[in-house]
Amino acid sequence: MIARADLAIVGAGPAGLAAAIAARQVGVAAVVLDDNEQPGGQIYRQPPRGFSIDPATGIRDDQARGRRLLDDAARAGVSVRNGVAVWNAKPGALYCCQGDEAWTLQYETLILATGAYERPLPFPGWTLPGVFTSGGVQSLLKAQRIVAGKRVLLAGTGPLNLVVANQLADAGAQVLAVLELARPSVFDLLPMLAGRWELLAQGIGYVGRLAGRRIPIMRGWTIIEARGKEEVQSAVIAQVDDEWRPIPGSERVLEVDTVCLGFGLLPSTELSQLIGSEHRYAPELGGWIPVCDEYCETSMPGVFVAGDGAGIAGSLVALEEGRVAGLRAAMRLGRIDPKEFSAQAARSLARLRRLGRSRAVLDRISRPRPGLFERITPETVICRCEEVTASEVRKEIEDGATSLVELKARLRVGMGLCQGRICSSTLIELLAQGTGQRPEDVRPFSQRPPVKPIPVSALLALEEACHD
Ligand SMILES: Cc1cc2nc3c(=O)[nH]c(=O)nc-3n(C[C@H](O)[C@H](O)[C@H](O)COP(=O)(O)OP(=O)(O)OC[C@H]3O[C@@H](n4cnc5c(N)ncnc54)[C@H](O)[C@@H]3O)c2cc1C
Repeated sequence: MIARADLAIVGAGPAGLAAAIAARQVGVAAVVLDDNEQPGGQIYRQPPRGFSIDPATGIRDDQARGRRLLDDAARAGVSVRNGVAVWNAKPGALYCCQGDEAWTLQYETLILATGAYERPLPFPGWTLPGVFTSGGVQSLLKAQRIVAGKRVLLAGTGPLNLVVANQLADAGAQVLAVLELARPSVFDLLPMLAGRWELLAQGIGYVGRLAGRRIPIMRGWTIIEARGKEEVQSAVIAQVDDEWRPIPGSERVLEVDTVCLGFGLLPSTELSQLIGSEHRYAPELGGWIPVCDEYCETSMPGVFVAGDGAGIAGSLVALEEGRVAGLRAAMRLGRIDPKEFSAQAARSLARLRRLGRSRAVLDRISRPRPGLFERITPETVICRCEEVTASEVRKEIEDGATSLVELKARLRVGMGLCQGRICSSTLIELLAQGTGQRPEDVRPFSQRPPVKPIPVSALLALEEACHD
């Protein structure tokens, strides 16, 4: 089946919803597709139908804010098609699948608001059951009201761990500590927070509530090993230096049944790469991001990126970028002229400039440092889908492999279910260390459809439709 849209939007998180609302307000009805069962994306993830949320939990605030955005969308006449995986993208066409049904959506303009995934970092024991990513634990809480464990340690860097620690404690878990790699001083943080009272109040709230519960935030500490037979039973933690290298002699062992790892996010760029738009390596993230202008338009005319999929900057930036992209797409479709675009987008563009300053500070504080990758031992699994260890990867590098593509051909890394989302940022570092290349010069994996798992029957249906 072939469907058509003036504007297609992939992702119904803050960026995609804001884009659809802005476009609708100037007369463009977008087709919004999202693979989750409910709209809202990550931060505004809604509970399944029939679930209610305990008013005492911090999750309720996010879900209530999300509800307001969804109500705005409904009032504007935006409808979201949920449960749809967009598994391939080409200039002018998206390939979609829902259950056994598959179809092609031809578009005039496209906004990719596909969000991010978490940056996993290997170290001994990180594949043991009970070791999660922090966002994964939060998704369980938000979507299913499941508390991942009883004695929980959080480790990594960035504000997400503070949020999740509070949410876990609200839900009844015993949170032992939040280990934060960075040691930002008040002077580091001030330029980020000055004038952003909402953010400041939120930050103070998270830290204050942890202090009230006597949950320590240990700055300059990290996890170096997870231990256990069948599942995690203890965590070895250590102090780190300014390059995040563990300081010998500082190790301690904590008994835990759950470890949450929050080492930052990486943009989901699979579709923007498949479509052929230009990307650049962002050292502050340790990953690739789409190149776009200040109006969110990529190197492919009429194709826009907004929100975390365009670079990690949080939900406020996602909302504003979505709005700008929605209006700009309407301009490209000829529904508003450049003057009207400038008038309507002015406030969002001004806010984005202000928010960009905070983003630069956070990026500097959380920039990945060499010590992160020095916890990896020869036996540490790097590609967990294909169970490939660091020593196997290093051997192939010594034998001449210089790119991710070559490692994939030799070791099958990146060929499993995650399609390289979990291992590629670590493999880039190992290649850079082993070959002397800069990470940005290491040739990344080539994207291949399907970017989401889909049933073979859906592919067959598409094939039959092509022959009809
Ligand atoms: C796991 C996780 C937890 C987070 N928790 C918090 C938090 O507690 N507080 C906070 O301030 N920030 C949090 N963030 C960051 C915050 O979610 C983002 O800054 C914000 O939601 C970005 O909005 P977005 O619209 O760009 O993307 P998202 O909200 O991530 O929405 C993107 C949507 O696109 C969909 N999608 C992606 N690819 C496809 C495809 N191929 N086909 C169909 N649909 C697709 C996704 O399923 C998702 O629903 C979290 C991020 C992650 C990854």
